[in-house]
Order: sequence, then structure tokens, then C-alpha cells
Amino acid sequence: MALKLSENSLKVLEKRYLKKDENGKVVETPQEMFTRVAKAIAAADRLYRKTEDDIAALEHKFFTMMENLEFMPNSPTLMNAGRDLSQLSACFVLPIEDSMDSIFDSIKFTALIHKSGGGTGFSFSRLRARSSTVRSTGGIASGPVSFMKVFDAATQAVKQGGTRRGANMGILRVDHPDIMDFIVCKENDKEINNFNISVAVTEDFMRKVTKDEEYDLIDPNTHKAVHRLKAKEVFELMVKMAHKNGEPGIIFIDRINNNNPTPLLGKIESTNPCGEQPLLPFESCNLGSINLYALLKKADGKFEFDWDRLKEIIHLSVHFLDNVIDVNKYPLSQIDKMTKQTRKIGLGIMGWSSALAKMMIPYDSDEAIALAEKVMSFIQAEARKESLDLARARGTFPAYKGSIFEASNLRLRNATLTTIAPTGTISIIAGPCSSGIEPMFALCYQRANVLDNARMIEVEPAFKDVMEEKGLYTRKLMEKIAEKGSVQEMKEVPEDIRRAFVTSHDITPEWHIKMQAVFQKFTDNAVSKTINFHEDASIDDVRKAYMLAYEMGCKGLTIYRDKSRSEQVLSVGTKD
Ligand code: UDP
Repeated sequence: MALKLSENSLKVLEKRYLKKDENGKVVETPQEMFTRVAKAIAAADRLYRKTEDDIAALEHKFFTMMENLEFMPNSPTLMNAGRDLSQLSACFVLPIEDSMDSIFDSIKFTALIHKSGGGTGFSFSRLRARSSTVRSTGGIASGPVSFMKVFDAATQAVKQGGTRRGANMGILRVDHPDIMDFIVCKENDKEINNFNISVAVTEDFMRKVTKDEEYDLIDPNTHKAVHRLKAKEVFELMVKMAHKNGEPGIIFIDRINNNNPTPLLGKIESTNPCGEQPLLPFESCNLGSINLYALLKKADGKFEFDWDRLKEIIHLSVHFLDNVIDVNKYPLSQIDKMTKQTRKIGLGIMGWSSALAKMMIPYDSDEAIALAEKVMSFIQAEARKESLDLARARGTFPAYKGSIFEASNLRLRNATLTTIAPTGTISIIAGPCSSGIEPMFALCYQRANVLDNARMIEVEPAFKDVMEEKGLYTRKLMEKIAEKGSVQEMKEVPEDIRRAFVTSHDITPEWHIKMQAVFQKFTDNAVSKTINFHEDASIDDVRKAYMLAYEMGCKGLTIYRDKSRSEQVLSVGTKD
């Protein structure tokens, strides 16, 4: 298949992904970019004594699945593979100990990672509370929130020169003495803008919310209880703030640690910036996503998944992502060491709602949930098969002994295989197709470009296809839809098309969460998802969503109420 990229895809590629000469002129075509990436990643097979013929064949397969837009690695791999930088991962977690040395080392490491296009997550939970004493100076500690602002300022400064804007996740445990400060630290949505923040809540805390009991706040150094709060009051403040402008999010930290594949290496304290990748301190992870929209075939006049090709793509993608670990140049030796202990990879999907719509299956339907279960369990099972094969040829991940897989003798090459990433940019490069497992945001819409905030107009490709097929595609109608965002009340659009093309705001939060939960069930790591609410949603609605996510086994939750921030990445309609 000849490479067919959309205008927006080319725009994004030219801006940051394709090689440029010293005058800033693009000197690489998208095909050459895919060749560069395929070659660099296939080369890792040399480490495992593969023949040159085998490597050439593998390179061709890697190239083809990218050229077909069936699979995309995360942005740093596309940008940096086969080039001097060669930093290929999107996700990092760094430790922050309670000392000036550790805090400022971590800031330096963060700057290096951001420069190379990676995102960083941190837990600030080990820092002593605000107003506690500093032994060496007799002064007063400023606490986690004030140090977060230093990380934020450093990120802001590096942002201009880096490959893309650096993103951070800041986590604080719910039992840290400064938790109330933390929950409100982004109340002003102009502050700490280079961070997403999430409260790490424990099982004990959630139980006490339900029973309306108090819980202890623990001094991170002495591990002694220093204060007590009513769990319900803390929870209510989180809900109120999230309702106000989407932050903080929540992560269920005990649930994450129950799934920690290598408990002997330590506890998981944080995730990467968008929440989909829990990692140990100094661990990194590279992600890749299968474009389900590109894996449809027509049978008996109807679209369905091409399961055979999907299976091939899953196996090739796991091989690809495992190779990335070997050819990656890590920004720090500690990261190199930790990453190669667990060899975590994160294979996920994009184009889910575009594919559903093309199959005429509404996102908010039992049929969609059942298909999600079928697709993701298939991806998880086939990814594991490939990882078992790789382990036979290359060995298990070094920390396998003592891992949760040892008891069942599941000799894997990778401690985790699946993650559902936001695919913010790669879904533009591969598409346009819908991102991750998100519903379509709108059928015709403006998107603030993640790279430079320029506004771009897009028509959902599945919608365009279906409307063209029925002879209903006119510019005038598309303009009308662009104004509204949704077609639910448009009589010009046939009923079955209206039903299949539900957009994010036509879908209730309950269905959003159901979809996140079903994908989580078959995902080793976590799922990036925003639960979208109408502008007029109540605090009650948000509280219910948090409880539902907890009950349904999600690892965390991010909500966003429409128009609750002064700047938002996606907006529906050109007029209200
Ligand atoms: N990320 C980042 N800066 C950005 C976008 C993403 O650091 O501007 C990191 C972050 O860790 C995020 C991960 O990349 O969780 C994956 O994001 P996404 O899937 O949107 O990236 P893409 O590969 O599409 O660029």
C-alpha cells in the first residue's frame, strides 16, 4: 500500500518528527522516517545472533506495519530512533527523597528527560510536611507543593528548546500531612500548568470514606501518625476540586501495587504524566499502539476486524517494543539498569471508537463492551504468547525470579505487556483516527495542535466514509455539524448513523467508565481515559463517578467537566 497521510499528519511530522538540516529544512520523507525507525529497531536482533537475512525481513515487516498505519510507536521512538539522541521512551518515573540533593538531582534528571521528549512522574510523598523543621539550618521546610512549583518552573524553561513540551505527573499519598494543600494546589488553573496531579488513595482510606471514619496522617520520616482527618471530608474536597477544573485526579495505589509484577524491586509510587503507566522509581517504559481503525475488513457488506492480521500485528509489535529496550539510549545509568530489570512494554490501541462507528456499533452499548472485552483479551493473550517466545530465545526479564509470574511458571520476556496510552499525537499521524479508547470527541471539530496550539479542522474519517457511501456528504451539512459537534438532533442524518456516531458528550459518564473498566480488565498497566461531563454536571455526579470507577476495578480516574478550564485542548463546535 502506498503511504497516504492526511494533511494534519504531514503537518505534525514536518514540525517535529522528520529530520531537518541546519537551516531547519526538512530533509526526510515520512517513508524515510519509517525506514529509519524500522532499521534501528530491527537491528537489536543482531544481539540475539539473527542472520542478516532475518534482520532484513524483520525490518521490512516493521516498516510495512508503520507504512500501513497499523502500528505506531510512541513519539520519542519516531523522532529519535536511528539518530544521535536515540532516547525512545515516553514514560519515566523518578524518585524524590527527602533531601535537597535528591530534590535537585531529580530536577536535573527531569530536564534531561524532557529535552528528549519523555514525560516524568513523581511521588512527592516522601518529602517532609510544610512547617516541619530542617535540622541542618533550624529553618522551616516548605513542603511538597512548594517543591512541585520548582519542578514546574524548570519544565517551563526547558519546554522551549526540547522536542516537545515536557509533561509531569505529581502524586501525593492521601495520608501525607500536606494532603489538603495538595488537593487545592491547582485551584487556580493558571498555576503549576506543567503538571497533572493525582491523589494516591489507599484501600483503607476508601473504606473509611464509606464508613465515614477518620484516618491518620503519617509523617513520612518518622512513620508516626501526626494528625487525623475525616476521610469523607478529604474525599469531598477532591470531588469538589475535580468538579471545579478537573484536578486532582485519583489513583488507587494499593490496587496498583497488588498488580506490581516485581514486588521485590520495590513499591510503585507513581505513574507517568497521563496515568496509564505505573512504574517503579527510575523505571522507564516505551509504548506502541495498534490502530484498530486500519484493521477492519469488509465481509458480506459489513465491516469487522481482520483478526488474522491483528494477530500478526500484535506479535510484531511486541517484538518491536522489546527491541526498543535494547537500542534505547537512556538518559541515566540508573534508568538503563532498572528498565532492563523488568523490560516493561506498553502495547495498546487507538482508533477504537472510529472502528466501532464504522461497524455501526454505538460506543454506549453492551455490544461495544462485549467487543472491547474480546479485542483486549485477544491482544493481551497474543502479546503474552509473543513474550513467552521471546523469552525462550532471549531469556526472561532479569527480575523474573521473585516476580508474580514465577509461581505460575509464566516465563515472560517482559514484566508488563499492555498499556492504553492517550495516543494524542500518534493518532493524528496514523489517522486521523480516534485516540486511544476515547469516544469521538466530535464529528467535525477544531483541535488545538498538541505541538504549537495552532487550530486544525478535522472531519471524523469514519463519518465521512459512511456519509459519502449514502450520498449524504455535503460541505454545507458538515459545516452545520461542525457548529453543533453532535448529530443526535439532526433529522438530515439517518437514525442508525446518528446512533453509531455518538460523541463524547452524548455518552453518559457511566458508559465512559464502563468502557475504561472493561479495557482495564485485560490491560497489565493502566488505561488513559478522560471521563467527560457536561458543563452543568453536579458535584454529586462527579462523586458517583469516582465511586463507580473504584467499584468497577479501574486503577484511577480523570474527569473533565466541559468549559471548566480557561484553556482546553479539544473544543466542540465553532458556535454555541
Ligand atoms: N508525553 C509527554 N509530553 C507530551 C505528550 C505525551 O511527555 O506532550 C508522554 C507522557 O508520558 C504520556 C505519554 O507520553 O503519558 C504518552 O502520550 P501520548 O500517547 O499522547 O503520546 P504520543 O506517542 O501520541 O505522542
